[in-house]
Amino acid sequence: MNELETKVYSALGKLIDPELGKPITELGMVGAISGDLKQLVVEIKLTVVHCPQADYIEQSAKALLEEVFPQVTIQMSVMSKAELDSLKILLRGKQKSNPFTANSATRVILVTSGKGGVGKSTIASNLAVGLAKNGNKVGLIDADIFGFSILSQMGVTARPTRLDDMMLPPESHGVKVISIGMFFEGNEAISWRGPMLHKAIEQFLVDVHWGELDYLVIDLPPGTGDVSISLGQLLPHAKVLVVTTPQPAAAEVAIRSGLAAIKANQEIMGVVENMSWLENGITRELIFGSGGAAKVAEQLTSAAGYPVEVLVQIPLNQSLAESSDQGMPLILKDFEDNASKELQKLVRTVAAVKLGKAARTLTVKLGQ
Ligand code: ADP
Repeated sequence: MNELETKVYSALGKLIDPELGKPITELGMVGAISGDLKQLVVEIKLTVVHCPQADYIEQSAKALLEEVFPQVTIQMSVMSKAELDSLKILLRGKQKSNPFTANSATRVILVTSGKGGVGKSTIASNLAVGLAKNGNKVGLIDADIFGFSILSQMGVTARPTRLDDMMLPPESHGVKVISIGMFFEGNEAISWRGPMLHKAIEQFLVDVHWGELDYLVIDLPPGTGDVSISLGQLLPHAKVLVVTTPQPAAAEVAIRSGLAAIKANQEIMGVVENMSWLENGITRELIFGSGGAAKVAEQLTSAAGYPVEVLVQIPLNQSLAESSDQGMPLILKDFEDNASKELQKLVRTVAAVKLGKAARTLTVKLGQ
């Protein structure tokens, strides 16, 4: 490299591609460099024609170079097919594969429930942003084909950027988000059969460039259906949070989804009770009765052979409902609210669980 190129690379090495999380100099995005130390011309190659980050990359590159060179011209272009192929190999290696196998350092958390409307997605979104807020790299998959609400709860309007068959997930509140709702109009996915769903879920894991994640949170459809079975096969070391309300009917079906997870060799991390009571001054109104989560925990403890506990009890709360509707998870908005405090406790509890081999060894021992 000559002096001009060295200076350009050193300046542009500070520019991180927002979607790929690496300096543009490492991604092959810096093209021809011409001119001299006074009048510089640099080509920046975008990965795709309509790259949503084009303006940001162009302006940032110009600003960084203007710190070093008096006159800078940026010429924007697009990578060739061969350059894009090299980039994909750089990002994911030669062979596409599921990065979340048993050896991966990413902690995978499946959020499940027996029936819809119990707050599963609300809990998954708050958990994901809470973990991200604490400095973790977090991905969130909305696999709830019956009620994909993560996009609105997370305030995501962008769609993934496609590099051929590779997808770059949009980020919201520090969390990379992919939802089944990004790929379908209306209710198309609901009529899908098992193999199609399996393929879609597999693509969320394999074709999405997640980068290195500390946590992957997955919002499952309620019940014990095909998506849960697929995820059981694809993510054998996933840990499961079972969400229920205090109502016996919700608890009964939550137990069934917990049992399905145990059968799929997944470890139950604990039970989350939502809508536990309505706060009315200092009194608590037990709108949905009481004891649902305790019953789920008790039954799953005896089925799993290890203690399954009720981790938190989240009250019914207007702020929680409103914040979901506004696309701003409550955990980011209000620290003092009682529902927010329980969600913060859930984040701490989940963060304290280490990626252990214990559960895997245990399930193998039990021969499940
Ligand atoms: P699920 O994913 O189980 O179908 P959602 O998370 O979509 O459920 O929640 C269903 C509705 O209930 C949403 O409108 C959400 O804002 C609201 N909600 C969830 N938990 C609470 C709560 N503790 N208090 C008030 N509203 C809640």
